[in-house]
Amino acid sequence: DVAYVNGVFTPLEDAKVSILDRGFLFADGVYEVAAVIDGRLVDNEAHLARLQRSLDALRLTSPAPMPEIVEIERALVSRNGIDEGLVYLQITRGAAERDFSFPNNARPTLVAFAQRKNILASPAAQTGVKILTVPDLRWARRDIKSVALLAQVLAKQAATEAGCQEAWMVDQEGFVTEGSSSTAFIITKQDAIVTRPNSTAILPGCTRRAVMALADQEGLSVEERPFTVAEAQEAAEAFLTSASNLVLPVVSIDGRPVGTGVPGERAKRLRAIYLNFARATAV
Ligand code: PLP
Repeated sequence: DVAYVNGVFTPLEDAKVSILDRGFLFADGVYEVAAVIDGRLVDNEAHLARLQRSLDALRLTSPAPMPEIVEIERALVSRNGIDEGLVYLQITRGAAERDFSFPNNARPTLVAFAQRKNILASPAAQTGVKILTVPDLRWARRDIKSVALLAQVLAKQAATEAGCQEAWMVDQEGFVTEGSSSTAFIITKQDAIVTRPNSTAILPGCTRRAVMALADQEGLSVEERPFTVAEAQEAAEAFLTSASNLVLPVVSIDGRPVGTGVPGERAKRLRAIYLNFARATAV
């Protein structure tokens, strides 16, 4: 496997950064993940726009301009022969003597790699996923896609140990914020697709945005408002979205079946619609 580190393509096992890198010491960095389908990048402009927004929030300047980043992503896809999978890229404030304040002369670190993954024929799309809810223990700027992911790691591990595939995090008022690495949706018995509005409480999902636009084009009603765990358990259907999972039906929440406890028809349809969009627009 070939990876990228600061201007150089290198075998993955040789791809290394300093132990003084601020990504390692402080989680002082941001990342992006884009899906690859048919060897092409899905909705990548949205991912790069969000990367720029995350960089701006940390007052970081990318060591490579965005068009060059796209070339790096494409090179990783082709050099690794990825037909279906994802590209990960991360920018940190670089290596410097350990001090909380920004260093004066560090060069930001840019690393990237590609992974093979079954996206289209995902088993979870057939079976649906089980959700465990956990308190949302994260900081107050969840809209930044930072590499500080400890709360999400612990949330996902709790889900895994409970036999679930994703954790939905819940705020202090009892409303679902989002999944550990996905956006949370429900479909009410009145047929409204409901998801929490974008704010500093959640990451603005690229897949969320595309799915909402597609649902709107289909004439489906979309409501942006918070929902509780109880409302989700009572909903007709539930689903999640993320770049590397597209749309996945949710079949249970904390052991309670959602709807009939099997993947819902509307969620399956939204997956198919999103997949068509992804394939048709990937570049
Ligand atoms: N929310 C969180 C916390 C995430 O980590 C992710 C992606 O990994 C998402 C939502 C979904 O965002 P996207 O659809 O852009 O992948």
